[in-house]
Amino acid sequence: MAIMQEIETKLQKGISVSTNEEIYFALLDLVKEKAEGKVTNDGKKKLYYISAEFLIGKLLSNNLINLGIYDEVKETLEKNGRSLAEIEEIEAEPSLGNGGLGRLAACFLDSIATLGLNGDGVGLNYHFGLFKQVFENNLQKETPNPWITEKSWLTKSDISYDVNFGGFKVTSRLYDIDVVGYNNRTTKLRLFDIESVDESIVGDTIDFDKDDIEKNLTLFLYPDDSDDKGRLLRVYQQYFMVSNAAHLIIDEAIAKGSNLHDLADYAAVQINDTHPSMVIPELIRLLQEKGILMDEAIEIVSKVCAYTNHTILAEALEKWPIAFLDKAVPQLMPIIRELDNKVRATVSDESTYIIKDGLVHMAHMDIHYGYSINGVAYLHTEILKNTELNNFYKLYPERFNNKTNGITFRRWLMSCNPELSAMITDLIGDGWKKDANELEKLGNFLNDDAVLDRLLSVKAGKKADLKNYLATTQGMDIDDNSIFDIQVKRLHEYKRQQLNALYIIHKYFEIKAGKKPETPITLFFGAKAAPAYIIAKDIIHLILCLQEIINNDPEVSPYLKVFMVENYNVTMAEKLIPACDISEQISLASKEASGTGNMKFMLNGAVTLGTSDGANVEIAELVGADNIYVFGEDSQTVIDRYERGDYCSKDYYEKDEDIKKAVDFIISDEVMAVGCKENLERLYNELLNKDWFMTFPDFQDYVATKERAYSDYNNRKAWAKKMLVNISKAGFFSSDRTIAQYNEEVWKLDK
Ligand SMILES: *Cc1c(COP(=O)(O)O)cnc(C)c1O
Repeated sequence: MAIMQEIETKLQKGISVSTNEEIYFALLDLVKEKAEGKVTNDGKKKLYYISAEFLIGKLLSNNLINLGIYDEVKETLEKNGRSLAEIEEIEAEPSLGNGGLGRLAACFLDSIATLGLNGDGVGLNYHFGLFKQVFENNLQKETPNPWITEKSWLTKSDISYDVNFGGFKVTSRLYDIDVVGYNNRTTKLRLFDIESVDESIVGDTIDFDKDDIEKNLTLFLYPDDSDDKGRLLRVYQQYFMVSNAAHLIIDEAIAKGSNLHDLADYAAVQINDTHPSMVIPELIRLLQEKGILMDEAIEIVSKVCAYTNHTILAEALEKWPIAFLDKAVPQLMPIIRELDNKVRATVSDESTYIIKDGLVHMAHMDIHYGYSINGVAYLHTEILKNTELNNFYKLYPERFNNKTNGITFRRWLMSCNPELSAMITDLIGDGWKKDANELEKLGNFLNDDAVLDRLLSVKAGKKADLKNYLATTQGMDIDDNSIFDIQVKRLHEYKRQQLNALYIIHKYFEIKAGKKPETPITLFFGAKAAPAYIIAKDIIHLILCLQEIINNDPEVSPYLKVFMVENYNVTMAEKLIPACDISEQISLASKEASGTGNMKFMLNGAVTLGTSDGANVEIAELVGADNIYVFGEDSQTVIDRYERGDYCSKDYYEKDEDIKKAVDFIISDEVMAVGCKENLERLYNELLNKDWFMTFPDFQDYVATKERAYSDYNNRKAWAKKMLVNISKAGFFSSDRTIAQYNEEVWKLDK
């Protein structure tokens, strides 16, 4: 049947007389049916990618692309006077993740399906997900972000388990989302929920009764952990997730013929960061229930579980008080103690023990009882081996390996930038869609003026699209002839949005003094700050104040504007990234494990301005020094500074007039007039007296490098060449490559 008829059969009327909402739900139904008919690998060994986050984004367009019917549907709608883009607006984005880590898990599922591997994602069905960000009085406010509608991508299954907590029991329910690969294959995202969850305990804010676990367990992603109740709720959530996962793993293995002694032939578990770590003792507990003795159960589970480390920031390596685990999951503590005792019996290095000072170190458990430990970019893994986890590396060198992150090109090029995709396909055919390395062939066109011109015009088109989108959705007045310089990612001090903000102040003074840039500059930000992360919210406040001051200053705004988009999420990323000229990746060297935003930007022809950190290092190696702007101290210098503990931000402030002027401006009358004294003073004092992420030492180099990039932008032909080099070298960062490596070196699933 032609697509037109299929859609109209669902609608039971013509497309042209249906509402966008009706068409959206008809397409949703159609896609779900088509996905169900696709092949799923049902081999013996299966991967369970367990993650507290899956930042999947909207699914309609991506699924249409992967089913191979995107163009047909789009044209059919257009013929009937409808726009797919407008219909997409109906879909609510599920915010089941915070940022990079959750988005990575989503990209991985796309690649697992596309490569036809036997693997599912396992996580939680948060009803409100992460909060929705709104700006009020130049401050971030958090509001609930409901996304589940009566008809949605979720399919209720008949799978349900009892999960025991200290003193009470809950009943779970599994919901599945089909993940459609770009190759006629599907896999599943399996999200557990509880039947007793009660959305009505949430009002207009993200506050709710944290004690009533049976009602609140799956309401929010990582509820506020600034107090003990919030932290305890996380433990309940984590155990709920992994207990369900462990039951599912064992049931599925048995159904395929496992006697459980051979579980490792049937299951591989990837522990995505420390949140799912309790799957280790939980699997051991369930195997014991099935009659397997403790020692053997430990051995079996150690051959099943592998751990991915995502950060070297100590505060992110979870450590739970014993008292929390005793209260929430008392059945696990004896097993965790046994795991710790075994380490103590054989390992002399006390720093690696699992239980220390009343705390359970989740990562330590993962490393001692996992068969693989990986970092997520070359530099990150080296830092793990040589510094951060060196004690463990000495014990188990063979377990450490690197898997440089990747992104799915289906979403981050084909879906978000069809114009660039079409251009690439015109030039080199469409083999790149399945083998990303074919993008290298674009290197043949570096001196082809027609190609470079077309590339510039595609970029100009995406900049105009973004301008229009932000004009209608957020009332912004953007000059699309300006340079689009974009920093979008979670708001964290180590990512150093504050460094970019100090640059903006510096530039503002320069323009005021008559030094005008040759091409106007637009700086974009997008970032959510964790609700309890005070300084991060102060940085947002400063940026919003600068936006108000600068954009309303008739002397400055023709040359410089600042826009912080509200509620940065996957949907917003898909609009911003294709329009970007300069990609800001300016984390303090050694602190960003990999970054994946950097890869999305490069793939869309933005040029990176960044430090030697995370995957920026690998980007620089691939594109060469002429096609990236690198600045700042390197990771070893930074690590040594921390080691010596002698960094004093005030010294820089006092010696460097530019830094002093920019920092003082934060508490000037001008900023105070549009901002809050308390927030601004706190940020000023933080920078002046602490600056833990060492903004000042990199300031002058940042300014000089950014000026060089802005100036190079004016040579349009040379700039287009840099863009094309970046696109042509992006193939390495396909998550298809990352997943193929995980499979070959860690999971070893049958094809
Ligand atoms: C890719 C992505 C991220 C990760 O960005 P980084 O710059 O790597 O931190 C965060 N949020 C969203 C919505 C993304 O799409």
